[in-house]
Amino acid sequence: MSKDKNIFKATWAYADAPESTDHIKIKKQYELFIDGEFVKPSKKKYFDTIDPSNQKKIASIAEASSDDIDKAVAAANKAFTSWSKLPGKERGKYIFRIARLIQERAREFAVIESLDGGKPIRESRDIDIPLAASHFFYYAGWADKLEYAFPNRKVKPVGVAGQIIPWNFPLLMAAWKIAPALATGNTVVLKPAETTSLTALKLAEIIEESGLPKGVVNIVTGAGETGAAIVNHPDVDKIAFTGSTGVGKYIQKATAGTAKKLTLELGGKGANIIFEDAAIDQAVEGIVNAIFFNQGHVCCAGSRLFVQESVADVVIQKLKSRMETLIVGNPLDKNTDIGAINSAKQLKTIKDYIKIGLNEGGEIYQPNCKFPKNGNWCAPTLFLNVSQSHRIVQEEIFGPVLAVQTFRTIDEVVEKANNTPFGLSAGVWTQKGSKIFNLTQRLNAGVVWGNTFNKFDPTSPFGGYKESGFGREGGLHGLRGYVKFD
Ligand code: ADP
Repeated sequence: MSKDKNIFKATWAYADAPESTDHIKIKKQYELFIDGEFVKPSKKKYFDTIDPSNQKKIASIAEASSDDIDKAVAAANKAFTSWSKLPGKERGKYIFRIARLIQERAREFAVIESLDGGKPIRESRDIDIPLAASHFFYYAGWADKLEYAFPNRKVKPVGVAGQIIPWNFPLLMAAWKIAPALATGNTVVLKPAETTSLTALKLAEIIEESGLPKGVVNIVTGAGETGAAIVNHPDVDKIAFTGSTGVGKYIQKATAGTAKKLTLELGGKGANIIFEDAAIDQAVEGIVNAIFFNQGHVCCAGSRLFVQESVADVVIQKLKSRMETLIVGNPLDKNTDIGAINSAKQLKTIKDYIKIGLNEGGEIYQPNCKFPKNGNWCAPTLFLNVSQSHRIVQEEIFGPVLAVQTFRTIDEVVEKANNTPFGLSAGVWTQKGSKIFNLTQRLNAGVVWGNTFNKFDPTSPFGGYKESGFGREGGLHGLRGYVKFD
């Protein structure tokens, strides 16, 4: 149970004012969570975590060196002996407890997620945090039912799972990774991304509070070097990575020839396909949600729009009008639709792509947005007049930038949609169920949404084809990455 009673009583205020940060406890300095304790990093090095909406420092975060990773892996290895033997029902109780504690502290988590990462509070409050709790609930339920998940097979946990997560859905990605690992009897060393460590560290506090045996989950902070130390550690048995395709390729090379089990969830360039028989107004909302949700920092974002030629003019007109109404600004304001770009580095990447798009002859459209003074801001952006060979059509931008193309026939749009190195997500908008089923067979994407986009559920597997990675997270499939068969 949380010691802070105020947090239980907090309710959401739906006024126009920004969400209050009262009662939100943020320390000046955060340590590493190793073997059930918060410990100082061996090299005494810390880095700053910044509020991307005003560039102000929020807190200092410990940087884990390879010595610290050695300690975390040793703790996880030691804990594995008894944790893996604990009956599933008992493991499940701890996971349920973690889920409930996240729910109890939901407001605190949501505010910190938006402060540290820049995403609109509406999204952290209604999507990220509830879904993170749901993942723990869902996998807690599997802990004592593994014989039903894998009938007639004897399954064993893999061992120590090294988990490296990105900055776009920090708490949710931690939940995606930790919950199935614990349910199957593994122990964990998890590293959040360097720009968004805070909610993972808050999760460490909850894990401590839940009474989970020491060393079962270790949370270490740092950047790429710290991540590489986990990947290359000889006593880590499994790597689960979500992040860029570039780093994913490095990890695949680094683990080649070792006994490490590997799952990779990498980049994407999702096709969002609007047929002439679609409900146009709903489709326009769907386009906005597909690309502008979380500032477009979404690996499965619908960043390529394909509109059937006969409705292209009306769809684009309605889309432009809708974009005029989007509010870009303070992530803690409940009216905000598009928050701050997560880091100055990512903002530069996005701006570079916008320049590339212009140089390639794309026709840009951006509404007139008023941005707050400081911080990392980017207007929602459309590119018309682009074609398959353009870099902004082929490469992942990871920002609020949509490349629009038109098509005439199903065959044409399938060919265009599949013509990227990625294969993570797609969306199809049509009144005809048969068309949706036809396309789900033909689109090379791990997830195909029908008349919706960016909908997530713990029961549903998620993952990619081609350069979007391999392995599935979520659902029954998500257990597979954490077990081995006798
Ligand atoms: P982005 O480029 O969008 O920041 P990354 O793929 O670099 O995404 O980051 C995803 C996660 O991978 C982060 O936690 C980051 O610290 C980590 N990371 C970066 N480089 C490496 C590496 N060489 N080995 C392991 N992890 C890494």
